[in-house]
Amino acid sequence: MDLLKELDGRNVSELGGELHRFAADLYPICRSITGNGIRQTLKMIQNRIPLQIFEVPTGTPVFDWRVPKEWNIRDAYIKAPDGKRVVDFQQCNLHVMNYSTPVHATLPLNEIRPHLSTIPEQPDWIPYRTSYYKEDWGFCLSHNQMLQLDDGDYEVCIDSTLEEGHLTYGECYFAGRSSDEVLISCHACHPSLANDNLSGLAVSTFLARHLSGRDLRYSYRFLFIPGTIGAITWLAQNRKAVGNIRHGLVLSGIGDVGGFHYKKSRRGNAEIDRAVACVLRDCGESSEILDFSPYGYDERQYCSPGFNLPVGCLMRSVWGTFPEYHTSADNLDFIQPASLAGSLHACLGIVDVLENNRRYVNQNPYCEPQLGKRNLYRATGGDSIGTEINARLWVLSLSDGDHSLLDIAERSKIPFFTISEAARLLCDASLLSPLT
Ligand code: ZN
Repeated sequence: MDLLKELDGRNVSELGGELHRFAADLYPICRSITGNGIRQTLKMIQNRIPLQIFEVPTGTPVFDWRVPKEWNIRDAYIKAPDGKRVVDFQQCNLHVMNYSTPVHATLPLNEIRPHLSTIPEQPDWIPYRTSYYKEDWGFCLSHNQMLQLDDGDYEVCIDSTLEEGHLTYGECYFAGRSSDEVLISCHACHPSLANDNLSGLAVSTFLARHLSGRDLRYSYRFLFIPGTIGAITWLAQNRKAVGNIRHGLVLSGIGDVGGFHYKKSRRGNAEIDRAVACVLRDCGESSEILDFSPYGYDERQYCSPGFNLPVGCLMRSVWGTFPEYHTSADNLDFIQPASLAGSLHACLGIVDVLENNRRYVNQNPYCEPQLGKRNLYRATGGDSIGTEINARLWVLSLSDGDHSLLDIAERSKIPFFTISEAARLLCDASLLSPLT
């Protein structure tokens, strides 16, 4: 398929730059699981792809949960006795514990301390903290910032609202030739954190844009949702659509310089698990395949036993394993244009496998067909001569109706793209027929 060829033709650094610029545009917004931050983010995605935005009212029951109150924030600060803002939301939105209830009071420092979070081991970084399901308020600041606070009375102000409203999420759907679907899901609920949420948003948006308007085998559904509660809400409200999902991927933390990590679906042997492993094997970057665990991102919900969907999670560095995770150091320098472009490339490779993986039948199974007289015993250019011809021999050998192209790519250790190209040429030469 031309998906990958087209991308290969583009200057990777130019594409990476575009992805990074989009993440940079989204970076300053104070997102949360509800409220105007995620709305504004979805509108910016909507400028690039046909995104439908849904609003689900507070209190709506969704399985064992309820859609929470909507949170919005305008300003927040801690003012020192001399009137100077020593902690200022306008400088960095991580300074406020996400979902903080409103507060405006003047308090002695020792009464404020229980509401302050720092990271002593990384004294210059601001932690990211949330309190979604327990009403509370708090500030986050660098440890060095806290050490500079002298005793005295401080004015604390969080100008936020936590009221009846809506949970907002975005969905982009492209109908393919089949109603069978591929689900791509990413969370959009973190404030100024680059790898953890913006990398996934940027890559998903560009992947959707790249697939838009194409003649595709599968239908594609992209979800841009608040983590956990968004996936639960979507699943609760889309029980019918869930039945169409054949393959799925959660994209998260795919902009840093680390190698790829793919966490398998709960099923562990789904086609998506094998497709991702095959693409990562040949992507030219380091990669590791991880077994499923019931913790992590929204694959937790998609893979819950009642659904058990074939949905895995593609990451670079695994959440929680690098010091920048959930801190102000997960910033725009932590994600790299080349990593973002490499991740988009890997995603397109995965889509390419899903779109083209099928079974064929060798039409000339009694001894090898004479490839030379069909001009198939010489490479058509490009790759190493050996691999291209080898791929044709593998496809002819294993195309007995039982083996898919993915089976052949796995067994031959030849990239899927080369195997699928070989199948196309052999079909053109009437040596191979797709199994219907
Ligand atoms: Zn996170």
